[in-house]
Amino acid sequence: MDKYEILKRYFGYDTFREAQEILIDSILEGRDTFGIMPTGAGKSLCYQIPALLMEGITLVISPLISLMKDQVGSLNQAGIHAAYLNSSLTPGQYAKALSLARQGRYPIIYVAPERLTTEGFLDFALHSRIDMVAVDEAHCVSQWGQDFRPSYLKIMEFIRQLHKRPVIGAFTATATKEVREDIVDILQLQDPMVVATGFDRSNLYFSVMKEKDRYSAIRAYLEAHKKESGIIYCLTRRQVEEVCGRLIKDGFLVTRYHAGLSDEERKKNQDDFIYDRVPVIVATNAFGMGIDKSNVRFVLHCGMPKNIEAYYQEAGRAGRDGEGAECILYYSGQDVVTNQFFVENGQADQELDVFTRSVIQERDRERLKKMTFYCFTTDCLRDYILRYFGEYGSSYCGNCSNCLTQFEEVDVTETARALIGCVKSSGQRYGTTVIVDTLRGAQTAKINDRRMDENPYYGALDKMPVYKIRRVLDHLQLTGCLEVTGDGYAVVKLTERAEEIMADGGQVIMKAAKAADKPKGDGAKSRGEKGSKARKEKMAGVELTEKEETLFEKLRTLRTEIAREESVPPYIVFSDKTLIHMCLVKPRTRQEMLSVSGVGDFKYDKYGERFLGCIEANGVEG
Ligand code: ADP
Ligand code: ZN
Repeated sequence: MDKYEILKRYFGYDTFREAQEILIDSILEGRDTFGIMPTGAGKSLCYQIPALLMEGITLVISPLISLMKDQVGSLNQAGIHAAYLNSSLTPGQYAKALSLARQGRYPIIYVAPERLTTEGFLDFALHSRIDMVAVDEAHCVSQWGQDFRPSYLKIMEFIRQLHKRPVIGAFTATATKEVREDIVDILQLQDPMVVATGFDRSNLYFSVMKEKDRYSAIRAYLEAHKKESGIIYCLTRRQVEEVCGRLIKDGFLVTRYHAGLSDEERKKNQDDFIYDRVPVIVATNAFGMGIDKSNVRFVLHCGMPKNIEAYYQEAGRAGRDGEGAECILYYSGQDVVTNQFFVENGQADQELDVFTRSVIQERDRERLKKMTFYCFTTDCLRDYILRYFGEYGSSYCGNCSNCLTQFEEVDVTETARALIGCVKSSGQRYGTTVIVDTLRGAQTAKINDRRMDENPYYGALDKMPVYKIRRVLDHLQLTGCLEVTGDGYAVVKLTERAEEIMADGGQVIMKAAKAADKPKGDGAKSRGEKGSKARKEKMAGVELTEKEETLFEKLRTLRTEIAREESVPPYIVFSDKTLIHMCLVKPRTRQEMLSVSGVGDFKYDKYGERFLGCIEANGVEG
């Protein structure tokens, strides 16, 4: 068999995607290979296919148990022998798996990095032919990545002990320049073939919303996207509890996930989501690594994550099947404070020495700033992200909230001066709320306590709505004229640039959404109304007829039934994309069924006839 036959037979696809073939060929030539591709681009095939063509065993190093389980499950479903070795196995199961591995049963073995140098595993490795070590999520070797795992450093220790150095393949979806260099250095890749495909995920729609009432906005979004699968990320456990609780009260079928839950509950809730029993999960960032669910149609962020890497990774869990999906970030000023707290109060790895930790903290602050700017930029959001990862996109993508909004330039010098003047005259001691309230001439207890009603700027902007003042405040922060800093209690401070504005001739021009005298309620409502119908039209770039839609639902039901019998997630049986393709092709024979994208021989033998039966029974003429 050659690589094309394997692609068709086991995975059911006709052609390789961009970069896959280059990476596969490079590995097969015995050259170290480094693939940097966005989530959903198809990295796994790049090492799985060579693994099936090589004589010896391929070890896949992967950081997470759920990830391994999912991948091994998919391979087994496709008729490929694979196993995983990690701490989720009992000693008995582990010994059994290892003994089958010794007998050469598995061409592909997934292993946790901390297992590599254990006695039992090493003994197996020394007595077997290991042809390739594929390092998945390779950015975990780098301290500059956001997921540094010290156990990943064991990989080199392990490889050094082998009699013959295997080919090394490294794969990651998130890597800035520093991290890429680190990966090559630390894994000691020899003259590697490095292939980086664009980070762009053109099927994802990006949007930032600054709604006053985030909860209502999210609820409206769910209302308009019933039945669709999605993730709602929150910054803290408490927020997860709150959002999830309110949604349940409001009659939505949702579940929750965070590190404070028991292992059982976490597993159950995760499975409910993956197996499509519950469409929506509300979670902290503890959820998601290793979630391969391909039909996630939206990822909402109720709060801004700590950096662009994290945001793009989390948002990127939408639309892995390549179909249209939406990523909406609901921002509030409080998010910055929450994240500053995380940075200052050492989420940084405790294993690190003081010096390294302080360097990392400094970088974290810088990253947080760039993330905050994402929420304020009026440029193309996609472009902003791509530039962050060192790529140049076109400055207009047409599929993000900024590209879809018309902006005009407004002179906000007077407002800016009032803000700066107020901060200055009150001694740079107060947070944004006090400043804004003062300018509006509000009478709150805080204002009275601090005697801000005696401030020369008290009431200076009493005709202006709060959100407009806030917008200028945000703009001043984005352009470095103001800084909001402080531990726990955030204080507005001035920078040198603030002086320039106060000086004669100083001017502040800001881009503002046209005709948007009030905050626009885009995303949730306007796009939402089109809802899932519009989405399906976008799917596979085709419009399903009503009959085909009915068939699609029938096929989905059959898929769920099979998934239950086999105890695997539905998307592992067939992806949504494959089902849609089936609705279009309406195959009547084995041959026709095999022409459907995602249907390989092995899966055909297992389920093909049941799906053919379902299509026939639903009498859609071809
Ligand atoms: P990654 O690991 O890069 O996030 P995966 O390996 O999980 O991505 O692949 C994402 C999806 O794309 C999977 O559903 C996979 O089956 C599908 N896929 C991969 N390669 C191809 C291909 N050549 N043609 C069609 N679909 C593919
Ligand atoms: Zn854009």
